[in-house]
Amino acid sequence: MFDSLSDRLESAFKKFKGQGRLDESNIQEGLREVRLALLEADVNFKVVKDFTERIRERCLGQEVLGSLTPGQQVIKIVNEEMVGLLGGETQDVDLRGKPAVVMMVGLQGSGKTTSAAKLALHFRRLRKMKPYLVPADVYRPAAIDQLQTLGRQLDVPVFASDTSMDPVEICRKGIEAAREEGCNVVLLDTAGRLHIDETLMDELANIKAACAPGEILFVADAMIGQEAVTVAEAFNEKLDISGVVLTKMDGDARGGAALSIKSVTGKPIKFVGMGEKVNDLEVFHPDRAASRILGMGDILTLIEKAQTTMDQEEAEAIGKKFQRAEFDFEDFRTQMRRLKKLGSLEGILKLLPGMKGLKEKLGNLSVPDKEMGRIDAIISSMTMEERRNPAIINASRKERIARGSGVSVNDVNQLVKNFEQMRKMMKRMMGGGTKGKTPRMPR
Ligand code: GDP
Repeated sequence: MFDSLSDRLESAFKKFKGQGRLDESNIQEGLREVRLALLEADVNFKVVKDFTERIRERCLGQEVLGSLTPGQQVIKIVNEEMVGLLGGETQDVDLRGKPAVVMMVGLQGSGKTTSAAKLALHFRRLRKMKPYLVPADVYRPAAIDQLQTLGRQLDVPVFASDTSMDPVEICRKGIEAAREEGCNVVLLDTAGRLHIDETLMDELANIKAACAPGEILFVADAMIGQEAVTVAEAFNEKLDISGVVLTKMDGDARGGAALSIKSVTGKPIKFVGMGEKVNDLEVFHPDRAASRILGMGDILTLIEKAQTTMDQEEAEAIGKKFQRAEFDFEDFRTQMRRLKKLGSLEGILKLLPGMKGLKEKLGNLSVPDKEMGRIDAIISSMTMEERRNPAIINASRKERIARGSGVSVNDVNQLVKNFEQMRKMMKRMMGGGTKGKTPRMPR
């Protein structure tokens, strides 16, 4: 996600590097690149114009911060403005109802049904809630079956709708059934069409009136870019949506929808879909997304991702280790094996700060999945003592490890070197050294 935008912005920022000071002309020149990068990413024209204008004013008007170079000052301002563009603070979902009702709306194929199942899992895992799924799409063939299958797979109860029933009736009865089963969050999977049409909108408005959902999440396919923003506006006008789930962000979406939707509709992105599997849902954090776009990595998301398969205590322990640069090869291998279950290692490594720029340098660590086995083999050939304390891995140990894992000494060398680099970077990012301070852990 955001890859080409990131690259373009990186080269725009280069224009500011090495400048003794910022003046009207070099700011204009740099911002021209930023503007082009955003337009190329399919960001709404007016949003781009306002965004670059705000940055220009701030660059010109700002007090000189002694500790930052002009280039860094620009990046800092762009980062702050970008967080704003993406919605500012992370927005929570309203789960106050008894049961809480979350209504999923959007065009057909946007990912509503999949997202409903992902959210059910999310609420159960991270909020310790009891979810209930209600399939209310009686038009798309197999939509009901699809949700029922997902429900079985996740062991989440699904209301037994059938296509002869009225969608408003299904939703009302579904909520009732959820209450009877002792579930405290209900996800209504409503019908979509290929295009916006009045009948659909009326039906959704009727469901809203009958069920009073605390959340109406508009599900948008990020791949359709600006079109998603236009559709979001239409849904918002009719239904007053409460937030957006932006799906298919794992694809090569250019970022236009993510960067425009809040400014245009006034409604925040609350979740992003990062793949077809039920695990592939992330809470959307504007600040982290901005860091990712600006190539600063996103270590908190990495930890959160790992946390879906570990408990809070273990996650905090790992966080502390990062902070004190005590994260060792043994931890690394455990996490690598765990994360492998969650998705591609390369995707995960992208979340690490500095990984983008350091990609070439980090060679063996920024590897595609097929090489992960090799790293695993090298670590497995180390003794426990070596894994815990990589500093003792001297030349003769490296030779033994290389023989044991069937790689060259050079490979072992690289892994050890890269690992040290990564540790230092993590320590920096996690604000290491501040004694006793634990990193902010996700809910
Ligand atoms: P609905 O018609 O809105 O209910 O859409 P579906 O939930 O059936 O999703 C349509 C297609 O998009 C399916 O093939 C899903 O697997 C796929 N999909 C949904 N969300 C994501 C996502 O975040 N990433 C990817 N790659 N595919 C997704």
